[in-house]
Amino acid sequence: VTRRPYSAATALVCTTCGQSQPLGPALLGCECCRSVGRAGALAVAYAPDAEDARTLRQARGFWSTHRLLPVADPGAVASLGEGETPLLPLAAIARACGVRDVHIKMESLNPTLSYKDRTNAVAVAVARQFGYDRVCCTSSGNHGVSLAAYAAAAGLRSLVLFPPDAPPSVVAEVRHYGGTPVIIEPEPQGGSVVSLLERLHREDGWFLSNRNAPQVTGRRFGNPFGLEGYKTIAYELWRQRDGVLPEWCVVPVGGGDGLAGVWRGFQDLVRLGLAAAAPRMVACQPASGASIVEAWRGRLTTVPPVTVAPTAALSLIDRRSGEHALRAVVESGGRAVALDEAAIQAAGGELGRLGLSLEPSSATTLAALWELAGASVLGPADSVVILGTGAGLRWPATYADARVRDVPRVPATMEAVLSVL
Ligand SMILES: [Zn+2]
Repeated sequence: VTRRPYSAATALVCTTCGQSQPLGPALLGCECCRSVGRAGALAVAYAPDAEDARTLRQARGFWSTHRLLPVADPGAVASLGEGETPLLPLAAIARACGVRDVHIKMESLNPTLSYKDRTNAVAVAVARQFGYDRVCCTSSGNHGVSLAAYAAAAGLRSLVLFPPDAPPSVVAEVRHYGGTPVIIEPEPQGGSVVSLLERLHREDGWFLSNRNAPQVTGRRFGNPFGLEGYKTIAYELWRQRDGVLPEWCVVPVGGGDGLAGVWRGFQDLVRLGLAAAAPRMVACQPASGASIVEAWRGRLTTVPPVTVAPTAALSLIDRRSGEHALRAVVESGGRAVALDEAAIQAAGGELGRLGLSLEPSSATTLAALWELAGASVLGPADSVVILGTGAGLRWPATYADARVRDVPRVPATMEAVLSVL
């Protein structure tokens, strides 16, 4: 009797030249492309079977779909209870937008309050499987906190490179998990973080957990495994909607791994005969830095870098999103939407009135939904799922506005309290 492997992953395939190479800690991209000085991003290939389709129907828990994740050794997994987040109906929003239904996938309820736990659960397990004892990433907040937590759970060291404006609270969270936070000073020319990451990997044995390190020209450097974790979002919401996929899936985009990973999950469901068609993917970005929106509008196949102005959507600050996310938007017949700060703030406020605390980056999804409804892009029979990728409490400064400073301070009397109502 042949034992069924824990993972159905078979190889790493280059998305540029199509060559495949064996599964290994390949953070430097396609070997074939590298030998001719070209960038070649790798993607994990699988050979799933009919039993995997049955498993998807009955799956419970993030790792129950381990066959469709790239971790070959179950002993390498260190779970913190990631995934299986609620899918909540937003009936009033659906009515206002004139669609059949709208659901929000509450990824803010993951162990470290964001969907990054799905990617780091996988990336850290892969690092451990290949014998690494240290993991590293660049982060504006969510990714770094998540990596530090999973590294702690797996008994690995973690190093998180933050930009100069990283909030003290996220730096403190990394320290809480025993990780090492470092703030990297800005470089006038930019790009130095990339060579730093590459040297940390090559010369000091750090396993990188980001796929799209910021400003990586051609994406020749990065982790091809972590984004596979996002596929589980597609599997879960398909099950939570009783085996029916929505017409639209609306996702905030920074580097683009999240959207590209969820899209790969939808493609798995179609390939395994569990869904007729994958949803159209909507990429949401702040107007103050919307590289994927500009590339989509210009019908480009690459994503040129843009200049980034300040935005409340701190998790989405990225000069350049990955081509894999652009491809997903185009292949799915989706859209890319840029949201201004007022729209992001209004959507965040509306989520609060519905009892939901999400970071401004996640509020871009509701803002985009309003915009698409206003432009009559959505049909009355359409179902929509939006991703609430991260929690509002990750960014305390978001709440430190005039409303907080204006809180009334009164004596403990009925008259005084009633007077402020
Ligand atoms: Zn290649």
